[in-house]
Amino acid sequence: MLLQAGVIFFTAVVPLAAQGIPPNPTPAHANPSPLADTEALSREALVWLAQLIQINTTNPPGNEQAAAKYIAGILEKEGITPEILEVAPGRSAVVARLRSSAISNPSRALLLVAHMDVVGVERARWTVDPFGALMKDGYIYGRGALDDKSMLAANLAAIIALKRSSARLNRDVIFLATDDEEAGGDASIRPLIAKNWDKFAAGYALNEGGEVISKGGKVQYVAVQASEKVSVNVAVIAKGPSGHAAIPTKDNAVVHLAAAVAKIGAYSAPVHFNTVVRRYFEGLAAVSDDEIAKWMHSLETTDRGEHAQRVISDANPQWASMMRDSIAPTLLSAGVRANVIPGEARAMLNIRLLPGDTIDVLLGALSKLVNDPQVRFEVQPNAGLAAPTSSLESDFYAVITKVVSQEFGGAPVLPYQSPWATDSSQLRLHNVQAYGLWPFPVTDEDLARMHGDDERLSVASFNKGVEALLNIVSDFAVTK
Ligand SMILES: [Zn+2]
Repeated sequence: MLLQAGVIFFTAVVPLAAQGIPPNPTPAHANPSPLADTEALSREALVWLAQLIQINTTNPPGNEQAAAKYIAGILEKEGITPEILEVAPGRSAVVARLRSSAISNPSRALLLVAHMDVVGVERARWTVDPFGALMKDGYIYGRGALDDKSMLAANLAAIIALKRSSARLNRDVIFLATDDEEAGGDASIRPLIAKNWDKFAAGYALNEGGEVISKGGKVQYVAVQASEKVSVNVAVIAKGPSGHAAIPTKDNAVVHLAAAVAKIGAYSAPVHFNTVVRRYFEGLAAVSDDEIAKWMHSLETTDRGEHAQRVISDANPQWASMMRDSIAPTLLSAGVRANVIPGEARAMLNIRLLPGDTIDVLLGALSKLVNDPQVRFEVQPNAGLAAPTSSLESDFYAVITKVVSQEFGGAPVLPYQSPWATDSSQLRLHNVQAYGLWPFPVTDEDLARMHGDDERLSVASFNKGVEALLNIVSDFAVTK
């Protein structure tokens, strides 16, 4: 299969739109959907993905309206009525709905979410045009190929397959393309919900945030995001007398700030487990090597727990962050001239709280640690809000687990609490059981290109993800 893909794409180093769409490699162990010829559909979806990549939606400024219009055009052609919701000048979301009955029941509805904006590129570091959607060696290259235009194209494929097949739905299925996700600013899902919640209110949602992790050509495990940490920025401010640098004193603000940051940098917040993290490590232990598995099983034991937490934290910084509030100093500023001792020095801490933890408790611990009357902490505005965890007992979580396990050769499916934030927290705050699953099998090497250089997704993975998403949606929303 891979060989075939290589032959097809190896010579085809021209933009996809110009070269026409090559035939897809047939996925191994295909689980065809009752709704659609998934092979033909993913071929169409690959064109949407390519054309979405070619619409530059780098945020800032975003300019998602161009992508919104493109998506609306595709939906209209299929007889699905889209609505473009303007959030800010040049920035819009798109919503479309397939109804299950004349009267909608929002608590049953399924929302398929993906964002249209992408992060910026360092063009000089790319070997291909980041907005060219180049096909090479079985991969599609471009900013957004992973995050999140692939999911956008797959969501489009799902709602279009439902429409074309005239499937009898047991709940409304809503398509939502959001803007300003990467910056989470004034045009993000927060104001969108505030203004337009009635247009996409749902009981369940599928969004980015979880992953299908593949190693050596085999899916190792699937992580379904059910909760996420909460981002809070805190300024550390040291004050002292300003004066002539020729006569230094012990109360120099720069020295006090540096000492405080050094202590904070060496600090590890206490470990707390919740159901999601506990079940994540239990599941991951089953596919990890014996030594790591042993420590994963020991994380909460009384005699070896502390040592196990240290081993697991040292083995992988992401695991360290999943177990505790994390603190990363990110900005430093002080001084106006080389020969003037400044009266103030500042650092910024980006803190990611476990859901349920409060910033006051953590700052209490940090104040005690720093123990310096010249240093104080100041919580910055626009902190993230802690959202409830999505249930691991819901019907939708059961469907996701069942379908992805079938799709990916019986790979274990683990609930996941992401260290990073997604649009899902805003949905969870509105009582949506939102789950994160970006359904395309990826290696760690692929993932390292997300927000990085030469972002790419293999066409075989894309096809498999489209199929998986389609099967999740049809299992949950189509009357059998
Ligand atoms: Zn994203």
